[in-house]
Amino acid sequence: MNKNKRVGIIGAGHVGSTVAFILATQGICQEIIIKDLNLDTARGIALDMGHAASATKTHTIVRVANEPSDLRGCDVVVFCAGSPRQPGMSRDDLLLANAKVIRTVLSEVKPYIQESVLVMVSNPLDAMVYTAIKESGLSPLQVLGMAGILDSARMASFIFEKLGYGSDQIVASVMGGHGDDMVPLPRYSNVAGVPITELLEPQEIEEIIHRTRNAGAEIVGYLKKGSAYFAPAKSTAIMVEAILKNSHQVFPCSVLLQGEYGYSDVVGGVPVKLGSRGVCEIIELELLHEERERFDQSIQSVKSLIDALYHHAFFVSSRP
Ligand code: NAD
Repeated sequence: MNKNKRVGIIGAGHVGSTVAFILATQGICQEIIIKDLNLDTARGIALDMGHAASATKTHTIVRVANEPSDLRGCDVVVFCAGSPRQPGMSRDDLLLANAKVIRTVLSEVKPYIQESVLVMVSNPLDAMVYTAIKESGLSPLQVLGMAGILDSARMASFIFEKLGYGSDQIVASVMGGHGDDMVPLPRYSNVAGVPITELLEPQEIEEIIHRTRNAGAEIVGYLKKGSAYFAPAKSTAIMVEAILKNSHQVFPCSVLLQGEYGYSDVVGGVPVKLGSRGVCEIIELELLHEERERFDQSIQSVKSLIDALYHHAFFVSSRP
């Protein structure tokens, strides 16, 4: 256990409660504080999760945030509040509704989380990271979005489906925004160092790219109500662990680009070295012409969502 480490979870729905379950049963923090609009839901989940921690002998304490100030002193705050998409919706359809949830919640809790790293999960992810940076008053280095670990895990599972071997040796790479035009990168995806371009036919790789981009929608289509949460929660827990342990591991995360990859004032998924203060370093990869075109297209999509927030006068200030 990381003694004295506290994790706050805002939004105890499918993703938030599963993140709490994973962290509590891993025992990687001393305390988890759950905040939800529905206080009784949060109470029930906190009690249940505390019992799960006890069953696994981690003794992580799980409790409810009765007041915004109960989030004071959290090393990491995970933000999963807001609506998930339903069948037929894109993540972008959630833009204004979830931006308002972020504003409402952060206006209450921001005095108490100024020293925390904020991990955003709510969709549309990259625009929500941007909103959180604006609304929280935190340094952009303290605010990261979870999507790249999930998208890469999905891509790796589809690579394994095609290959039929090497599941624990597959590294997949996905960059750009967490939208329909995310950028799976076959050249940076490999099995024990062997690029998948050496192992699979171009048609098979195209199928993997297509399936990776549509994996979220495929799951929503089956579930009929709500969206994926097991893999999103596990991916979030991986980020939280890296931050709590100051691991300096590199993961694809959504962060504010401030000159990196030639962009400013926009959020995108790129490789990030994670530490206890959040972003330690953004790593710039060399992209080939076609990869660069796909990345640019994906970042433009994120930019248009951020533009839409300014267009709706969501932010008081004009665009920098
Ligand atoms: P859910 O509906 O199960 O849970 C949402 C929770 O947020 C509910 O418990 C609700 O009460 C709470 N909430 C709503 N408004 C609130 C407020 N003002 N204050 C506190 N709590 C509030 O949804 P879910 O499946 O857990 O998904 C949560 C979010 O995560 C969605 O926006 C979804 O699209 C997103 N998501 C992102 C990824 C990713 O890769 N980044 C993956 C999966 C889901």
